[in-house]
Amino acid sequence: MNTVHSLNMPVVFIGHGNPMNAIERNEFHRGWEELARRLPVPRTILCVSAHWETQGVCLTESETPGTIHDFYGFPEQLFDVQYPAPGDPALARRVAELLATERPYLDSERGLDHGVWSVLVAMYPEADIPVVQLSMDTSRPGLYHYNLAKQLAPLRREDVLVLCSGNIVHNLGLFSYQNAMPLDWAIQFDTEVKKRTLLRDHEALASYNGLGQNAKLAVPTPEHYLPLLYAVALQEENEAISFFNNTVLGSISMTSIVIGGD
Ligand code: ZN
Repeated sequence: MNTVHSLNMPVVFIGHGNPMNAIERNEFHRGWEELARRLPVPRTILCVSAHWETQGVCLTESETPGTIHDFYGFPEQLFDVQYPAPGDPALARRVAELLATERPYLDSERGLDHGVWSVLVAMYPEADIPVVQLSMDTSRPGLYHYNLAKQLAPLRREDVLVLCSGNIVHNLGLFSYQNAMPLDWAIQFDTEVKKRTLLRDHEALASYNGLGQNAKLAVPTPEHYLPLLYAVALQEENEAISFFNNTVLGSISMTSIVIGGD
């Protein structure tokens, strides 16, 4: 049986950025710590991250998902981070049931990627809340992801936190570690997305290539943008929206969103 509550659990979109945010006590890390204090404590967490791209839809089913260090060239200290949160096979099966039309594959081997654990290690350092990850078939268009995510709506009344992790603007090719001055086009696209989110213009957000002349620069590949569509798809009419970690670093936007709640 799933616990049913009258109140919807908020939904969050996190701009995760550099994996070092997991261990650096910077403004983004602190923003994630504060977010966890703001949210009701969830029973369990469903994550959608930029870093699990598949053909078709997959879900982690392991009871003990590992910590995947899916990056190179970072300090040993980052490779040492473990996030030993339990999995939640019952949640994986529940999500598979909600997404039955997609015939999701339940993956009992896969662990959690850094789009998930770099954020959760700040939010829930005790790693005591179970986590399931949902993959994205990034060969599919924005509207497909938006419509798929709508089917997850019942989870919000079952004490499940849906946490979507990407970056609204993510162009690593134009990123400079030496100069984090926000680029004009990056600010413009980030501002446009925030405006459309506040207007609840989900159609425009799903058709992101049409979001102005900077869309191609801001979203050169879809994987970091698409998690945003999973979050906004779960926004009900008149639900509050708030932004935090509202910063653009060069060609990457850290803008994060809370939907619902206070
Ligand atoms: Zn990333």
